[in-house]
Amino acid sequence: MRIRRLSAFVARLPLKRPFRHASATRLESENILIKCELASGIIGWGEGVPRSYVTGETPAGCLAQLAATPVAEQLTADCSSWPEVIALCERFQPMQDRDDPRGCYGNALRCAVELSVLDAFGRLFGEPVSAVSSHVPEAQPILAHPQPTFVRYGVVIDSGNRRLRLKALTRRLYGFRDCKVKVGAAEDDDRARLRTIRRWFGPAVDLRIDANEAWRADRLQQHLNPLLAQRISCVEQPVPHAEVACLAELRPKLGVPIMLDESLTSETDAREAIAHRTCDLFNLRLSKCGGFLRCLRLAALANHAKLGYQLGCHPGESGILSAAGRHWACSVANIRYLEGSYDRHLFRKLLTNEDATFGFGGRAPSLHQPGLGVSINLATLEQTTQDHLVCKVL
Ligand SMILES: [Mg+2]
Repeated sequence: MRIRRLSAFVARLPLKRPFRHASATRLESENILIKCELASGIIGWGEGVPRSYVTGETPAGCLAQLAATPVAEQLTADCSSWPEVIALCERFQPMQDRDDPRGCYGNALRCAVELSVLDAFGRLFGEPVSAVSSHVPEAQPILAHPQPTFVRYGVVIDSGNRRLRLKALTRRLYGFRDCKVKVGAAEDDDRARLRTIRRWFGPAVDLRIDANEAWRADRLQQHLNPLLAQRISCVEQPVPHAEVACLAELRPKLGVPIMLDESLTSETDAREAIAHRTCDLFNLRLSKCGGFLRCLRLAALANHAKLGYQLGCHPGESGILSAAGRHWACSVANIRYLEGSYDRHLFRKLLTNEDATFGFGGRAPSLHQPGLGVSINLATLEQTTQDHLVCKVL
């Protein structure tokens, strides 16, 4: 079976309420959606979340990059098995118009195209996308045997003090086991915030923090030390990527494991982090890291280096990425933390007909329908589409 055409859409999805962290405040999410149509008429959907401060991508840039890529040449192969589909996905290489030493420019587009292809062929084969993982040779040591019937997501508390007690208490009552707190915003007293959150969330919850590159390496210990009293289990991306090399020396003195996020976008970044021992954990996000298959390989690299990994998400992911993340999380063992599937809590209107939002305690079931197991609400797509592009393959 061959791909007939790809269609790309830039969709602007309004959020229910603003989401704040040290690098950005967002009221809406501009995502790139890809529709992959097979010669038989079967359709698959994929999604990427381009963020200029993470991989340098923008939604308009993704469309331009796709338009400049020889898609018909790259995606023309005939596929009848998962290994052939994996090889097809690897042949997709977005056109580069700039130096890309970290190998991350185009990752949101890669992710969107790859997910659409996996969804379409999963539907053709009558198998869920989670089935592809066992066909990736590098992923063998990290596969979950057997796959779980449900997974548990954690929750995030964003920057600011607004209704902090209520946020902590309601999330505690909802049964979450772990919580990530955004820190490092200039106007925030993070020591007081964490004390409040610990008090109202209770002693049992696993609390970790994400500074989104807010602190300078030479002041890192001063920022962190007052927060350690709240028994934080991990600090995510404490310094800007430009200063990440300093973590090699600082890390053993900090008294808390370090997770890289903005500094972990590609295999190049991962090998650098492993070689220089700048972290204890990787934050893998499907869109940031270039898709489902690349995230499998990055998790396998972390595992081989005896580092931990989590599957994170971008605030603003719709049900397509929620479903893709669920398939990934159900096929991989030993995921330290799992983020995502916030759909109904994020959006006024869902882009998918199915609601992938987690339930009580952050629990969400594994998905067994063919492909990603979600379908697009075409009316919502039409209302939110800003721009689109069609690439013929056949
Ligand atoms: Mg982060």
